[in-house]
Amino acid sequence: MAKCPKKEPDWLMISALQHYAYCPRQFALIHIEQAWADNFFTAHGNLLHERVDSYESEQRGDIRYERSVAVRSNALQIRGKLDLLEVEGGSAKKYYPVEYKRGKPKQEPWDKIQLCAQALCLEEMRDTTIESGAMWYWQVRKREHVPFDEELRGITLQMIKEAHSLLMSGQTPEPIADQKRCKACSLNDLCEPAVFRRDHSSAYIEGIFSDPTRSESNGD
Ligand code: SF4
Repeated sequence: MAKCPKKEPDWLMISALQHYAYCPRQFALIHIEQAWADNFFTAHGNLLHERVDSYESEQRGDIRYERSVAVRSNALQIRGKLDLLEVEGGSAKKYYPVEYKRGKPKQEPWDKIQLCAQALCLEEMRDTTIESGAMWYWQVRKREHVPFDEELRGITLQMIKEAHSLLMSGQTPEPIADQKRCKACSLNDLCEPAVFRRDHSSAYIEGIFSDPTRSESNGD
């Protein structure tokens, strides 16, 4: 179901960038059509975040550990919450954002985009530069160090721009081609990508037999 295009851009939740990077249709189903379905993975991820949120802030040596820190960027119109922010030093502070995830490190940059967007917010809020952060993966109980290099910053800014523009359009795009990704998607039942693809292939076949120009160009 498509909605009317908007005149003013909405604020984008940083967690939505991960949905967009995974699949623009998933992003649209959740953030435009307000459809959502929990599967085991998302339910477990929510539980993990609830647990992380319940920890108190604390000081250990020269580092202060702040939990559930709200961040926003007026320039990028994004906002969200950091799982953990490590703040080191006195007047010249060094910030190190950490995001917790249920699974394990991925080849694709989905999680890193979310973390980098959080860092971009902090940079604007604190008028500073943040060189790196980390992902912490529950499944492997391991931290992955993430440098905020030019490439990751570029991809993140591009995703923010595209996600805003899709949100403004109010249109839900077609399913992605990657069927493996669809299998792991919590919205598979709502999205019905297989039905959509089947409809498309039958329309294509019908088009071949009803379009005379196609027959000519094929030399029939
Ligand atoms: S099932 Fe596939 S196309 Fe549909 S929302 Fe999920 S990933 Fe995207």
